[in-house]
Amino acid sequence: MSLLVQKFGGSSVADAEKLLHVSNIIKAEWEKGNDVVAVVSAQGGTTDALIEKARELSAAPAERELDALLSTGEQASAALLAMALESVGVGAASLCGWQLPILTDGRHGDASITHIGKARVRAETDARKVVVCAGFQGVDAAGDVTTLGRGGSDYTAVALAYELGAERCMIYTDVDGVYTADPRLCPTARRLERVSYDDMYALARAGAQVLHDKCVSLAREHGVEPEVLSCAPGSRSTRVAETGEGAEVTGVTRRAAGGGEYAAVTLVGGALPSLKLEKRAILALDAAGITVRGVDAGERTLTLYVDRNRSREALCAIHDAVIPSA
Ligand code: ADP
Ligand code: ASP
Ligand code: MG
Repeated sequence: MSLLVQKFGGSSVADAEKLLHVSNIIKAEWEKGNDVVAVVSAQGGTTDALIEKARELSAAPAERELDALLSTGEQASAALLAMALESVGVGAASLCGWQLPILTDGRHGDASITHIGKARVRAETDARKVVVCAGFQGVDAAGDVTTLGRGGSDYTAVALAYELGAERCMIYTDVDGVYTADPRLCPTARRLERVSYDDMYALARAGAQVLHDKCVSLAREHGVEPEVLSCAPGSRSTRVAETGEGAEVTGVTRRAAGGGEYAAVTLVGGALPSLKLEKRAILALDAAGITVRGVDAGERTLTLYVDRNRSREALCAIHDAVIPSA
């Protein structure tokens, strides 16, 4: 019997049907005798809608109140998933960050986890209940609710997996792993079987939203090996661990830059930065008629700046030029 942490992102818990599907994924593990701690994001679109509501009232809402507001998205999906689990015959208890508690520093909107109380989770799992923990939130020393930054439920999942000594940390999302580029943007992107902590961290920092950067650094620090997979039956996955596949370039990603006017397309991998790869990327952009606005070299990275409206083409052109097809 093992303890598993299973995290479900916003699109995986978006409606009643999806919540029931997720409940059955959890139930399959629970019926094998495993303890399950589920971590949930707000239902898809909820966090953005809450931010919009706040902005209707103030251009710069108080950070404390914004966190109090945004945390309700995860609170709601945790309670809904617990109800869905009960409806498929699995005892469950939802818990907010302050109930565990997940203690954080006081940086509203970008808090870091400092401590996790385990007694309540253990009491629930000892009673054979699935714990559904609201992701993305904690409580600071003043007793105020904090949030961990956009995409922060991944960070909650890895922190819980480490603190509870979980056997597996499974990050369920809407793609079946980490790819050499966002598979929604680049049809030629290939799923990686393994990706190193260092490369995954660099990819996350450079815009690959599939995992939160703080979750990757915490995983690296404590040797937690998150698995990224989808909710589809028999999904393949990617494991994030000390070593990856060892290719020159692991992946290519993009993010907005220059106040939104430009896009930064970043290559990540153990061979970077490299003049040979820089030349290859520039030639690919040239062939696509895309102007390079700047180049930056970093640790395991090479970044090329292009006009925002050409960023997708640039991403795919560079990807195809530097990553050999399978
Ligand atoms: P969740 O709501 O489950 O946390 P996210 O939207 O935060 O999901 O992250 C998953 C998304 O990350 C995918 O739908 C995909 O578009 C995007 N993504 C960006 N880069 C990559 C990559 N290299 N590999 C896989 N997915 C990526
Ligand atoms: N709901 C939060 C967000 O949209 C956190 C998360 O999804 O992990 O950023
Ligand atoms: Mg996410």
